[in-house]
Amino acid sequence: MQQRLLESIEALHGEIYLVGGSVRDTMLGLQVKDSDYIVTGIEFPVLKAQLETWAKVDVVGASFGVLKVASNGVIVDVALPRTERSTGIHHRDFEVSFDSSLPVEYDLARRDFTVNAMALRLRDQALIDPFAGQSDLEKKILRAVGVATERFTEDPLRMLRLARFVAKLGFTVDLDTLAATKALAPLVSSVAAERIQIELLGLLSSQKTLLPALRLLRDTGLLEQFIPEYKICFSFDQQNPYHHLTLEEHMFQTVELARQNTAEVKLAALLHDIGKPATQVFGTDGIAHYYHHEARGADITRSILTRLKCSTELLEMVVKLVRNHMRPPIQSSNKALRKFVNDLGVHWQAALELRRADRLAHTPEPDWDADHWLAETIARCQSFPPDLETFDERNLAVSGTELVERFGLQGAKIGAAKKAAATAIIEGELENEHDAILAWLGQQKI
Ligand code: ATP
Ligand code: MG
Repeated sequence: MQQRLLESIEALHGEIYLVGGSVRDTMLGLQVKDSDYIVTGIEFPVLKAQLETWAKVDVVGASFGVLKVASNGVIVDVALPRTERSTGIHHRDFEVSFDSSLPVEYDLARRDFTVNAMALRLRDQALIDPFAGQSDLEKKILRAVGVATERFTEDPLRMLRLARFVAKLGFTVDLDTLAATKALAPLVSSVAAERIQIELLGLLSSQKTLLPALRLLRDTGLLEQFIPEYKICFSFDQQNPYHHLTLEEHMFQTVELARQNTAEVKLAALLHDIGKPATQVFGTDGIAHYYHHEARGADITRSILTRLKCSTELLEMVVKLVRNHMRPPIQSSNKALRKFVNDLGVHWQAALELRRADRLAHTPEPDWDADHWLAETIARCQSFPPDLETFDERNLAVSGTELVERFGLQGAKIGAAKKAAATAIIEGELENEHDAILAWLGQQKI
């Protein structure tokens, strides 16, 4: 693809550059997810027509300046240099324009961080680096391009991207950029919920250490902007000998310990104890207890994820994980474990992963081998019949009509008999088999 692009552009006497995250990731030896190119010196319609001779080309958005170019299963973005001109005092008041006669440096100047503001000229592999991004890359520093407060005022989402890059790259934040984030964090309230959600999930999907990014979100005031429910957790002393950390640090540690797991598990980890402050009561012994904090936490999680416009699927999964984060007991009978698998459905493994991380983030238990417990419990759950995940009364091999005919049951008793049989099946005490169910119900004196 790259060679083909270069040939097309050279034929038209233009110049083409790889830009942004793709340059950064190439220099870091990371896998490049999506390649972005800038072309200069060729008018947009001419460029489009040329690329259409060998690729499928789509114009992106309303503004004529970006092309999605697809060939042999590879899709890349090819754009003209873009500038943003301020048209008013508010950060949304700017006008985007594309202009093929602008040098690539103009386009780099509107990018967020120096490590994202480099271009690689394809013709000779020359690095165009007006903001010393390469030096910051070597020092592992995230620094805003130009004046940080201006960059963040123009687009407050950049502050969340900053936290995501801390997690993805493991870099530290330049002091001016950090100060600007602290000063301007409240502007994040104007960012669309969907975009916040994407950055948060992107941050959580990193498998590197997540503590620096989470602490950055807390210490800059960003986190409480999009999850105000978190504020009460900061420095919240759990007043309980089983918890040696403040509440938010415990949740952060849980995320950290789940870092090999999916972003969904980590989102549940981030929120799992958020119901604690609202449920705190003190025993006569002076120890704090948090009865039903998981149910309260599930409700709070639902309202947070609704506000962040998460998909129903993601929301229901994370709410379920939060609600069930105290399950299963570490020493579980088969009966309890089968019930757990049935209640959690397809999310049982995610719930076990969360349970492991949560438990590890408590006061250390030297005798507990978490990974052994997890592997063993997963193996036990996998040994159960696969339909246990989805089984409920509706799958019973006996119908309500048969119960009426056979036992003369009526009204609520029919439902109760079905429920009892379903529970026995879930717990492994009864096969979901017609005759076996009728015989079992016969013995139950219903
Ligand atoms: P990744 O793809 O790993 O998430 P990326 O840096 O490639 O990281 P993209 O969202 O793909 O991020 O954006 C590509 C490039 O576009 C960035 O590297 C940056 O130069 C620029 N960019 C993206 N979003 C912004 C923004 N909100 N403000 C300024 N520049 C941005
Ligand atoms: Mg990218």
